[in-house]
This record gives sequence, C-alpha cells and structure tokens, in this order.
Amino acid sequence: MNRFSYIAAADIPGAVKEVSLNGGAKFIAGGTNLIDLMKENVARPNRLIDITRLPLNRIENIGDGGLRLGALVTNADTAYNAEVARRYPMLSRAILAGASAQLRNMATNGGNLLQRTRCYYFYDTATPCNKRDPGVGCSAINGFNRIHAILGTSDQCIAVHPSDMCVALAALEAVVHVTGNDGERTIPLADFHRLPGDTPQIDTNLHPDEIITSIDLPPRGFAAHYAYLKVRDRASYAFALVSVAAALEMDGETITDTRLALGGVAHKPWRNRDAEAMLNGIKATKDHFEAVGEAVIRGAQGFGNNTFKIELARRAVVRALQHAAQMGRKS
Ligand code: SF4
Repeated sequence: MNRFSYIAAADIPGAVKEVSLNGGAKFIAGGTNLIDLMKENVARPNRLIDITRLPLNRIENIGDGGLRLGALVTNADTAYNAEVARRYPMLSRAILAGASAQLRNMATNGGNLLQRTRCYYFYDTATPCNKRDPGVGCSAINGFNRIHAILGTSDQCIAVHPSDMCVALAALEAVVHVTGNDGERTIPLADFHRLPGDTPQIDTNLHPDEIITSIDLPPRGFAAHYAYLKVRDRASYAFALVSVAAALEMDGETITDTRLALGGVAHKPWRNRDAEAMLNGIKATKDHFEAVGEAVIRGAQGFGNNTFKIELARRAVVRALQHAAQMGRKS
C-alpha cells in the first residue's frame, strides 16, 4: 500500500473543496471496496477524505411521495428500514442478496454505487487491464471470463458492475443527487453508470469534484408485484452470475406497467425498455414472458467461459417475471 494523508471533512462544501484541490484524493466512507483496492495496489490515492461525519445518514420522506436515501446510510440500515421494506421490498431484497452481513453493516449507499468491478484481472496487477491501465489490453476477452459481460461490451473491456442494489435502483428509476463545484445536480440511475466503450477506466458519469449526497426513490415501489432473482455460484457472499429485478403493475391478470433490470450481464445495470414495453396491456402468461426473455438477450455475445450466461439470463427473466406476477395469488 502506498503512503497517503488523511483528513476528515466537516461539511459537504469542505469535502468538495478537498477533493477538487488534489486529483489524487479519494473520499472514503465504509471503505469496503476502496481498502481492498488499496491493499492490492490497484487504487493508489495520496489523500483520503473521510466523509463519515457529513450529515448524509438519514432516510426521509420527500415531497413527491418518494423516499430519500442518504448516501451515508449503510446498506444494512437501508434494507431493514421499515419504509424501504414496506414500500420498496424489491430494493430490500436486492441489498440483502449482496455481500455479507458484516459488509452490509459497513458499506454505504453512495459507496455501493461506486464499487468497482470484481473482474479478476482488474485486481491482479501482474496482468494487462484497460480499466486499470488504459491502453494495455484486456486479459479477460481471451482469458477466463466466466463472470464477465454478455451485453454492452466493447473490445476494450467486458467487465460487469457488481452491485445488486443498483439493479433494483435501476428498475425503480431512482435518481442520484450529487454536489460539486458547480453546485447540485441530479443523475437518473440509468445514466449514472457507463458502458465501457473506449474509456473503460471511467465507471460513472460522476465528475471528479462531485460527491453523492442522496438517492431518491420515486413514489411507485411496485410492492405488490416484484422479484429480485439472483443466480450465483453459492447461496451467500457471492456476486451475481445473472440477476433480475422485475416489477409489474397489474390490473387483474393484465400487466399495465413493467420494469426489468439485469445485473451480472453488463458494465451497468441493464435495462431494455423495448422488451419491457412488450408486456404492457397484455396477460401475464409464460409465453409472453418467454418472448420478453428472448428480446432481452437479443444481440448478447459470449466470450467462451461466460457464454452460458445468455441462456441463463433468458431463463432468469422468465422466472423473475413469473414470480412477480404470481405474488399475492392463492395457489
Ligand atoms: Fe480489465 Fe475490463 Fe478486461 Fe477485466 S474486462 S481485464 S476490468 S479491461
């Protein structure tokens, strides 16, 4: 680990000023990913700005009927918050599917959005990785790529975003609030993370001087018909091979609105709005869900070890939609 200095920010403007003054500085809160990256010499900040004392640790109702999640609320406190669990159970379910209890107790909501890929080669500084060292090549494309992306890839990087929470946030159409030198702005969750393109080293559209302050959940939580299905190698403490957040509004047997987001398949939570629209106004049947599953994987590309994910994603979409539709029905 390299040497670094440390400062605790007293307020948000102070934190923004500190990070703006030093291009090698990084914010730290729970540290559940950054410390690992520093130990492996993948991240080498020369200054850590501790933001844990900032007033961003509340969950509160907002005027439009939605709910605001402070950036410093832990993942555990978010998942078990009574309002989140009652109104946004898909989000609670997704968070609790991620990491371990110990990590969820430390990790913050802002940090969850900013966690970096778990591509093995990204963490192995002995191997080429465009995300770590732009321009040197990608070891995964012709290497062991079982956990890698099948959608939205580039010839520079095929990494996936590892978060479960963000998949549910994408389906809920959450909005991220950030503050920087130019003041406050909002970024729809769908636009927060980037596809790798030819700049795989840049994970998000957050500017270097900006700090995440909160995540707003819109009023509709799809609490009556939802599923978060995570397919992984072991039952706990494993990243998703494929995950699906599925949310439906239903009028009897008819679907009136659909949200679908996938994790483990792309460099960002993956939504396909054309596929979602296929369900609106029609009956919730397996045949219709199969058609959506086919639409979601159209254009997917495997790289050898991960090619199984294409069929897995198709099946996971069908199963998640079935679970969501069947909620509340007597069997
Ligand atoms: Fe690096 Fe991305 Fe290739 Fe992994 S997939 S080795 S993160 S460039």
